[in-house]
Amino acid sequence: MKGKIGFVGLGIMGMEMASCLLKADYEVTVYNRTRSKAEELLSLGAKIADTPSMAAKGSEVVITMLADPGAVDEAVLGRDGVIGGLESGAILIDCSTVDPVTSSKTLAAATETGARFLDSPVAGSKDDAANGNLILMVGGDKETLDDVREVLDVISSKIIYAGPSGSGTMLKLCFNLMVSHMIAALGEALVFGVKSGLKPELILDTIMAGRIAAPVYEWKGNCIIDRDFSTKFSTKLIHKDLNLILSAAYSLDTPLPVTAAVKELYALAKARGLGEEDFCSVVKVLEESAGVKIAR
Ligand code: NAP
Repeated sequence: MKGKIGFVGLGIMGMEMASCLLKADYEVTVYNRTRSKAEELLSLGAKIADTPSMAAKGSEVVITMLADPGAVDEAVLGRDGVIGGLESGAILIDCSTVDPVTSSKTLAAATETGARFLDSPVAGSKDDAANGNLILMVGGDKETLDDVREVLDVISSKIIYAGPSGSGTMLKLCFNLMVSHMIAALGEALVFGVKSGLKPELILDTIMAGRIAAPVYEWKGNCIIDRDFSTKFSTKLIHKDLNLILSAAYSLDTPLPVTAAVKELYALAKARGLGEEDFCSVVKVLEESAGVKIAR
């Protein structure tokens, strides 16, 4: 068996990432707030910890994959959190999408225990996580990244070194700014065209025919046309990311007028009860306003 890893946060993404590490023969101790999810990994040989701190105890590497800054405050920095059990010399890797302030607090707390820290949010979805094909955006010390590369190679197909601590988090916020706009724009184009009488397949095929084509348009466009809003990445999480982006933009004195408008579209979707559905369900708000429904 390979090294000892603590893994905290077994949501849509964390569950698949921890499974990959177990299948690669690492000794993985998992913690999840809702314990029943952790029990799903017993058959792969996972050990279950009662607290995040206990998952970190004795682990050489600790990976966290949590919803948002509040979850990191609680499960990493809080009472019985990861920091309490982190060994001196261990490496803590936060894969959650958070804000630079949270990454900086985590770096300070990890450093105080004698551990090292990388912010390493991910790009990709549930399937990419299941296949070890995530893209990692890593901030922190380059030597620390090199020391942990073997573990990260199990969960990723590409590792992008972003720069000093916090750079991975900032890069991910840039990435999700784009994605949030793309899905909002796709939804508007489909609703607008369908209202005029165009077929949604024709609109999507045309988008995919030229230089504006992007795999995410084909993927989410077909989900919308097939009415498949099963959650790969939830509306509530993209709304969280847009809030983090706008708050970081405020700190940087950088206006993001289009992003501010896009954020309110996802806020509307969440307010209409779509928070737990996939974020492409934002199209339902546009459909309702226009009085049309996209379907084959
Ligand atoms: P998810 O399914 O909602 O899972 C969130 C995880 O955080 C769960 O394990 C949840 O525990 C835990 N959690 C939430 N609040 C907590 C708290 N206060 N204390 C302790 N644990 C808490 O989210 P996900 O889709 O896996 O995403 C995880 C992170 O990756 C997010 O930051 C997201 O933005 C980012 N991300 C997601 C995707 C994607 O496609 N889904 C892609 C790239 C990045 P419970 O099980 O008890 O609720």
